[in-house]
Amino acid sequence: MIIDANLEPESMVDLVRARRANVRAILLTHTDVDHIAGLPALLQELGPVPVAVHDTEKSVLTDGKPLRRHFAADGARLAGAASLSEGRPYRAGSLEFEVLHTPGHSPGGVTLKIGSLVFTGDALFAGSIGRSDFDNSDGEALLDGIRSKLMTLPDDHLVYSGHGPPTTIGMERRHNPFLQPNPRGR
Ligand SMILES: [Zn+2]
Repeated sequence: MIIDANLEPESMVDLVRARRANVRAILLTHTDVDHIAGLPALLQELGPVPVAVHDTEKSVLTDGKPLRRHFAADGARLAGAASLSEGRPYRAGSLEFEVLHTPGHSPGGVTLKIGSLVFTGDALFAGSIGRSDFDNSDGEALLDGIRSKLMTLPDDHLVYSGHGPPTTIGMERRHNPFLQPNPRGR
């Protein structure tokens, strides 16, 4: 499975070819342009594999409705998309991802978890959290989701976020300034 369709689909296609991977699905953590712009190129190369996204952001893919009011739509139009919903694992091939709804950066933000690997999209980064200053963001929901669904995972779980280096749940629990009892000195 491929998680997110970033602005450099060619490097993903190269990786898929080098590994002779049989891609069964593309899972989207959310639908900001830098996470979906590569979709047309990926689908062209890989064939019509299912694309899965949280229901609240499905219209971005199927109707070309931009996620953010001030950014133009990216133009990708899919005939349909599969649903990622919390509590319903997403299975394809031999893989099964647990879906955690971690909104706040965007309404349909999800974290995908497989074993001890956690793909947080733009909810949690190494040393930071996602932006929540957009019209359809919600800073409180973002922190709530991170605290209740991610910080409750074991310390050794590896976090691969949408941007920047990997980290661990334990590292973020201890050092992420946004998750401390008094964030940013307030
Ligand atoms: Zn992003």
